[in-house]
Amino acid sequence: MSKTFDVAVFHGDGIGPEIMAPTLELLSGMSSSYDFAWTDCPAGAASYLDCGSDLPETSLNAARRADAILLSALGDPAVRFADGTEMTPQIDIRIALDLYAGVRPVRVVPGMRTPLKIPEGKIIDFVLVRESTEGLFHTQGKGHVTDDMAEETLRLTRKTTQKVCEFTFDLAMARHAGGLPGRVTSVDKANVFRAFAFWRDIFDGVAKGYPDLKADHAYVDAMALYMVQNPWDWDVMVTENMFGDILSDLGAGLMGGLGMAPSADIGEHHAVFQPCHGSAPDIAGAGIANPFAMILSAGMMLDWLGRRNDMPAMVADAHRLQTAVDACLAAGETTADLGGALDTMGAARAVMDRL
Ligand code: ATP
Repeated sequence: MSKTFDVAVFHGDGIGPEIMAPTLELLSGMSSSYDFAWTDCPAGAASYLDCGSDLPETSLNAARRADAILLSALGDPAVRFADGTEMTPQIDIRIALDLYAGVRPVRVVPGMRTPLKIPEGKIIDFVLVRESTEGLFHTQGKGHVTDDMAEETLRLTRKTTQKVCEFTFDLAMARHAGGLPGRVTSVDKANVFRAFAFWRDIFDGVAKGYPDLKADHAYVDAMALYMVQNPWDWDVMVTENMFGDILSDLGAGLMGGLGMAPSADIGEHHAVFQPCHGSAPDIAGAGIANPFAMILSAGMMLDWLGRRNDMPAMVADAHRLQTAVDACLAAGETTADLGGALDTMGAARAVMDRL
């Protein structure tokens, strides 16, 4: 009997709805052993203009009830709050649902516009886990600013640091079972800040519970260098919120830009799957947006749901989806940002055909 998953769908702004529509079509046709019931959740700039809220309570509640949450690009730089700041409902959802583990995979495959020259035999395939609810984002929007100074607070709690480290080691174990090296690196600044010595201490404590994995540390500034110089040497990394925010864009750069970068924000009870790029208002409505980051994020949802519900076929489908996208990239069946000639629907269809 087919199992139905309830998925909260945030179609978003700009190119958001354009990349979400083919992704839902693709997911609906993925398997006969599971199915999806979509719940549309307004949020973002269009929702703000429509009803005065960028994250209506009804949408947040639907997300809470859902088995998983698919989120497209939200926000529009032209639509701002009265104080001039942009709306970031995706960050509000992370806090509201306690999605502490921001998973940012970095895989470079043929067909991507990587700026690197990759030596023969080297493979770039690592995952950055960004703690997504505290760190330097603790006082986001509430920083103390006077005429003479501005102050923000970085906060790390034992509970969340422990949870995000455990999540990262579990992820490395799962990858290790699939043949990857089984190495976890804490990316911090423990040489300068006591808060990061606290972080490292917790990381080391968690590492003791995973004797099959290698655990080590790197300073964040050095890691920015390593990600460019020897990105093939890393497996799984875990870091604070702001460091992760910055390094994940560097990781996207290795893949040729944000158009190829998928992500997941995962907590104990909920998870959001979303492309890393924004709503790209400059190309919205033209039908040329690259749908691959959205599709790969949907693949991460299949993997997460499959593991959570003990459905190995669903996990295998996630892998199949990734392989299909890789094949399209290699064959040049892509949108213009990657040098191809396809429009959004054409690129999504190319993936469906290969499935
Ligand atoms: P945000 O602040 O919301 O994260 P941003 O300012 O970083 O957004 P994006 O909206 O991601 O900017 O767009 C940056 C550039 O990348 C734009 O030129 C945009 O057209 C392009 N871009 C982003 N996503 C895609 C995509 N999926 N396909 C093609 N081009 C994209």
